[in-house]
Amino acid sequence: MTSNNQPEVNIGLVGHVDHGKTTLVEALSGEWTDQHSEELKRGISIRLGYADATFRKCPECDDQAAYTVAEECEEHGVETEHLRTVSFVDAPGHETLMATMLSGAAIMDGAVLVISATEDVPQAQTEEHLMALDIIGIENIVIAQNKVDLVDAEQARENYQQIKDFVEGTVAEDAPIVPISAQAGANVDLLIETVEETIPTPERDSDAEAEMLVARSFDINRPGTTWESLLGGVLGGSLSQGKLEPDDEIELRPGREVEEGGQTEWEPVTTTIRSLQAGGQSVDEATPGGLLGVGTGLDPSLTKGDGLAGQIAGPPGSLPPVHQQFTMDVQLLERIVGDEAEEVESISTNEPLMLTVGTATTVGTVTSARGGEAEVALKRPVCAREGSKIAINRRVGTRWRLIGIGTLR
Ligand code: GDP
Ligand code: MG
Repeated sequence: MTSNNQPEVNIGLVGHVDHGKTTLVEALSGEWTDQHSEELKRGISIRLGYADATFRKCPECDDQAAYTVAEECEEHGVETEHLRTVSFVDAPGHETLMATMLSGAAIMDGAVLVISATEDVPQAQTEEHLMALDIIGIENIVIAQNKVDLVDAEQARENYQQIKDFVEGTVAEDAPIVPISAQAGANVDLLIETVEETIPTPERDSDAEAEMLVARSFDINRPGTTWESLLGGVLGGSLSQGKLEPDDEIELRPGREVEEGGQTEWEPVTTTIRSLQAGGQSVDEATPGGLLGVGTGLDPSLTKGDGLAGQIAGPPGSLPPVHQQFTMDVQLLERIVGDEAEEVESISTNEPLMLTVGTATTVGTVTSARGGEAEVALKRPVCAREGSKIAINRRVGTRWRLIGIGTLR
C-alpha cells in the first residue's frame, strides 16, 4: 500500500452539457483509471462518475510544461515527482438534474467550470452551476475555456470576453480562465498548474470522530451471485473529518425506514467496515478528503441503486441529529437563474420544495413561512448539523429551479 496516492481533495467538474467535462476528466486521469481493479471500476469509479488523478511535476521541465499526470517525462526520460492526488466529481447522470449537481457540490472543495468556446456564454447550466457554486460557497474556481481547437483566434478572444462579462460580480469573478482542448490534450499542463495554485487542499481534522458524507451506494454483486459469495453493500463518498479503518463499526443516519403498527419511522443502521478503497487501491486507513469506497457488511439490497445516498456515516452515537421537519432561515435569489424575466416570489405555506442538505435531496412541504424563515415537513428525513446550508428549489413549469439558500436552525 502506498498511501501516497490517496486523494486529498475533491474537485467538481461543472458546466453545460457537451462542453467537455467528461473528456477533460479522461484527459486528466486516463492512465490512472486503467489501473483500477475490476471491482472498483464496477463498484465505485464508473457509476459514481468520479475519477482520481495524480498530478505530477517533471523536475527538469520549465514552467507549465512541467505539470503532468505521466509518471515519466517524455522529453527528459526522468521520473516525475508526485504533487497530490485529486478526486474529480463529474456531474453524473442527467445533466439537467440540478439535484445531482447540488448534492455533489456538498463534497466539492473547489470546481473547474468548463465552458465551450464554440457557443455563446452563458448556456443554461453554465449559469445554473455557477449560481449553485456561489450559493454553496465554493470559492476556489478555475474556468476551463474548452474546445479552442474548434475556433479561430478572434472567436476565442470574443468568447473569453463573454466569459469575463458573465462572471463579473459572481464568486468566479477572479477565477483564472485557461484556454484548453480537452480532446487534444492541449494546455492541460497549464490547467493542472492553475488548479494546483487555485484549489488548495483544505485543512481537515483527522483526529476528530469520523464523518463520511455518503454520495452514492451500490450493490456490486452480479445478477445470479450465490448467497454464500454475496458481497456486502458498498458506500461511496467523502470523509469530511476523522479516519476510518477496516473492522471499524459505523452507524448510518437517518438509516432505514421501518414499519411498526402502520406507522413508518426511521432507525439508524450499524455495520462493520470490511474494506476501504481510495486512489484506486485497497487502503488500511482512509483519511479526509477525496473519494472513498467503503465495503460493509450491510445487506446489499439496502445499498442498491443509491439507497443510502445522502446519509451520514460515523462511529455509533457521534452523528448529527436526524430531522423529520426543521426550520430554516431563508435567503431568496432575486430572479430565477437562467430566466431573467422570472422574479422569485416568497415561499408560501403548503408549497412543496426540493431541498438539498449535504449530499441528501429530499422533498418537503412548507408548514409555515414568514419573513426570512420557513418551517418544512420532510418526506424523507435528513441527518444534519445546525447551521448546515440548504439549497432550496421550487417547481417552475416542469422543472425544479434553484430559488435560494437556507440555513438549518
Ligand atoms: P460533457 O457533457 O460536458 O461531459 O461533455 P463531453 O466530455 O461528453 O464532450 C462532449 C463532446 O465534445 C464529445 O463529443 C467530445 O468528444 C467533444 N469534445 C470535448 N472536448 C473537446 C475539445 O477540446 N475539442 C473538440 N473538438 N471536441 C471536444
Ligand atoms: Mg459528461
